Amino acid sequence: MMRYAELVDTYTSLESTSGTLEQTELLVELLLELEPDQFEPVVRLLRGRVFAPWEDADIGVSSRGLTTALAQASGGSAAQIEALWRDTGDLGLTAEAVMADATQRTLMSRPVTVGRVYDGLRDLATIDGAGSRRRRLQTVAGLLSDATPLEARYLARTVVGHLRLGVGDGLLRDAIVAAFGADAPAAAAHVERAFHLTSDLAHVASVAATEGIAGCAAIELEPFRPVRAMLATKAAGISDGMTAVAPSYDAVRLERKYDGIRIQLHHVDGESRLFTRRLAEITRQFPEVLAAAQGALSAEGAIVDGELVGVDPASGRPVPFQQLSRRIKRKHDIRAIAAEVPVRLFLFDLLWCDGVSLLDRPLASRIARLEAVCTPTPGAIELATAIDGPSPEAAQAFYDAAVAAGHEGVMLKNREASYQPGTRVGVMMKHKPLMEPLDLIITRAQWSEGRRSAYLGRLFLGCYDPDRDAVCEVGRLSTGYTDAELETLTDRLLERKQAVEGRQVRLDQDLLIEVGFEEIQRSDTYGSGYALRFPRYRRMRPDLGPSDAATLAEVAAAYDAQGAS
Ligand code: AMP
Repeated sequence: MMRYAELVDTYTSLESTSGTLEQTELLVELLLELEPDQFEPVVRLLRGRVFAPWEDADIGVSSRGLTTALAQASGGSAAQIEALWRDTGDLGLTAEAVMADATQRTLMSRPVTVGRVYDGLRDLATIDGAGSRRRRLQTVAGLLSDATPLEARYLARTVVGHLRLGVGDGLLRDAIVAAFGADAPAAAAHVERAFHLTSDLAHVASVAATEGIAGCAAIELEPFRPVRAMLATKAAGISDGMTAVAPSYDAVRLERKYDGIRIQLHHVDGESRLFTRRLAEITRQFPEVLAAAQGALSAEGAIVDGELVGVDPASGRPVPFQQLSRRIKRKHDIRAIAAEVPVRLFLFDLLWCDGVSLLDRPLASRIARLEAVCTPTPGAIELATAIDGPSPEAAQAFYDAAVAAGHEGVMLKNREASYQPGTRVGVMMKHKPLMEPLDLIITRAQWSEGRRSAYLGRLFLGCYDPDRDAVCEVGRLSTGYTDAELETLTDRLLERKQAVEGRQVRLDQDLLIEVGFEEIQRSDTYGSGYALRFPRYRRMRPDLGPSDAATLAEVAAAYDAQGAS
């Protein structure tokens, strides 16, 4: 049985050391002393959280609640304790001082062990019903009154979630390697991989201690234990991205980049659970996704990677992320909000299937398996729209269409690459317009060349300057629309024809469109003094008039903002 005082010893040493090497050394000493069943409590308590990220649980004691527990444990007055808290600004130091002065001490105090603190704090989350606050505070007061003043300092900080010892993932990983793998080849890589697969350093540490680094190397994916997602790097543009992401165009896969939240769907024997990229479980919030998963997946077991997107029930277009986050936060009346913000899940990778990890297989083979075990349910669970081995022109057109359909951009992926959990990799890149789209006025139009020569496909764009009540041009676009959209647009423009000058048509300046673009530059070409780079048609805005257009000041602010980023 490990006494809490021993852990507190390490806490105080860590607090008084800022050097990473010394801190690692302190952790190594501690890890080497632990019995197998102590890794979970000790590693979690070092991080200051008794729950794993995917446990949907909370200690449920506020700072004010803690002062009440301190009053109970010490026999002091709540007002005095609060005054001390205000002075020190730290509940830990407050608890320490209050317990040092305590008038009331239990005669037969039970020893405070690591197990008692860990289990006691975890159990707080299970207390509910009438009188639950009182019972929670009683448990905390019991722990505090058995603790020494120094123990009370860290106990208090842990209860309110403010331990902040700076023991991050990197430090702990280094300590595990130094403690159990100093002589093992590639120990750091094995420990890191095991962490990314299990998201649980307590588990990794205990495997390293009992089975050595070879045990860590043998750790595999497990359903219902979320894995850390593979992350993307940024592409400078579509054609740059295509050459950077894979050795040949044939090996490139482009997918729509959906704007929602990254989701891992774990599914085994009819039970499905959902986790976010930050490993939080959000199964209960999306009952309709679980129901759809039952119907869509034919594998008995699967871990699938995808993006959950909120859609507007009327238009079917994606809604801003903020809407979707309302669903994640909502813990009650779930059916009502599900009707308000329906969601669609787009799947793009399969990491594990029927007991076998697919991580080391090439993307193309993982996708083939995904297609084999998933029958999409349109509107509920779908596979990401994709194009394999495109030419640069086809890739650009795919990107334009993705953005025009209201999606964020595209992902560029190497079809030959394995899945590397938890890492930002060059084999998966993202490309999206840098800037928020602008609503702009079409100032003039010009006949297109070639296949589209019957249409007014070159559009000059203007923003509005309220100071001068004038429209000033910011650029010209000739891409982003479908043939059908261009035909409608041409009809609308011809209704506004004022005069024809060569291939150009002068217009009444009251038709607005939403325009996506990558960047804004300073430029003498247009009256505004700015020019949009790579502008793209997104949609008509017949609901807006000229005074609703982006103003010159907004364009200037967007220009300034990109300099800051
Ligand atoms: P970002 O959040 O800008 O770093 O972009 C990467 C994120 O895009 C991923 O973490 C996913 O949440 C999201 N995403 C949307 N569509 C896809 C897709 N088809 N493939 C991979 N990630 C996607």
